[in-house]
Amino acid sequence: MTERLYDRDSHRREFRAAVLSCAPESGRWAVILDRSAFFPAGGGQAGDTGTLGGGRVLDTEERDGEVIHLCSDPLTPGETVTGTLDWSLRFARMQIHSGEHLVSGTAHRLWGCENVGFHMTERSATLDFDRELTADQLRELERRVNESVWADLPIRVFYPSPEELEKLVFRQKKALTGPVRLVEIPGVDLCACCAPHVEHTGEIGLVRLLDAQRHRGGIRITMTAGRGAWENAFAMGESADALSRLFSAPKDALPAAAERVLSELENARQATAAMERRYTALLAESAHDTAGDLCFFLPGEMSAAAARELAEAGKKKCGGICAVFAGDDETGWRYVMASESVDLRAKAKELNAALSGRGGGSSAMIQGGASAPRAEIERVFYGEDRR
Ligand SMILES: [Zn+2]
Repeated sequence: MTERLYDRDSHRREFRAAVLSCAPESGRWAVILDRSAFFPAGGGQAGDTGTLGGGRVLDTEERDGEVIHLCSDPLTPGETVTGTLDWSLRFARMQIHSGEHLVSGTAHRLWGCENVGFHMTERSATLDFDRELTADQLRELERRVNESVWADLPIRVFYPSPEELEKLVFRQKKALTGPVRLVEIPGVDLCACCAPHVEHTGEIGLVRLLDAQRHRGGIRITMTAGRGAWENAFAMGESADALSRLFSAPKDALPAAAERVLSELENARQATAAMERRYTALLAESAHDTAGDLCFFLPGEMSAAAARELAEAGKKKCGGICAVFAGDDETGWRYVMASESVDLRAKAKELNAALSGRGGGSSAMIQGGASAPRAEIERVFYGEDRR
């Protein structure tokens, strides 16, 4: 059985070990050592990567109580090799995992929340609590957790005897088998966990609750800590810098600047809509009454609402179909057709075939698109001799 060096010393990043076995496995090599600092995935934390001998450790897994190093290159049983962890990756995971224990332990202590789901990467973690928390509670949770970080509390890992275990009250995520490994943050949390953690809460650096959503009668929190929190803060800062340049506003005034631009945009939208209404009303007014069909061609940027209004106004000035086309020959035409006398739903198939188009609607109005050029469209409605 491999001696697990990470179990008592989570900061061991290099070690010497003897190769016990090496077997090919789907293009990789499954290596077992007499001792290892590589953590096999567990407790929500991914397996370690790094180097072993001359090759890469691509992943580490636990199978039947054994630590399996999945390596890029074969090793010789009996030889002694040096193993080195991808330390920054492992440390980032420990920062988030220990940060998660602070968050879950604090929410449990303050409001009795049970952690019923947990998923983590080296950048962030999501945790599910069985009850909802208010925005004020989430703010208090984040503040208290960071106060525990700044207090630089020691994190203790221990295996209590069965008698001690009886007396202890601790959080556990699933039924436990074998000796129970407890992770204690004094005054904050006591939780069964198999993963390596930082030694002092100060190493976590910072904990940030990034998002909270209702989830199955409780709440799902997305959090980050340590390097993940710094990367998040850095990315947020870059976004704020870019927005600050775009809005020509200082970073602490971005919400007000965005509100101002949005309200200007809304005013412009309303002014454009009013202008379109005046334009389509004028078009409809200037059309001569006709017993036949009536066609309007609008520039491409006209809104669908304006095209519909024009079709509604135009149908009163003709005895047949009032057809409004918006677009151009190159990109194609969007159409709206209205009529007081023609059943458009019945006629849609014939019109679409003639216009190389598709669309439909009610007997009083149909909408769609046509790829026929304007000259062809005019021939369909007015016949050859009208041009
Ligand atoms: Zn844990």
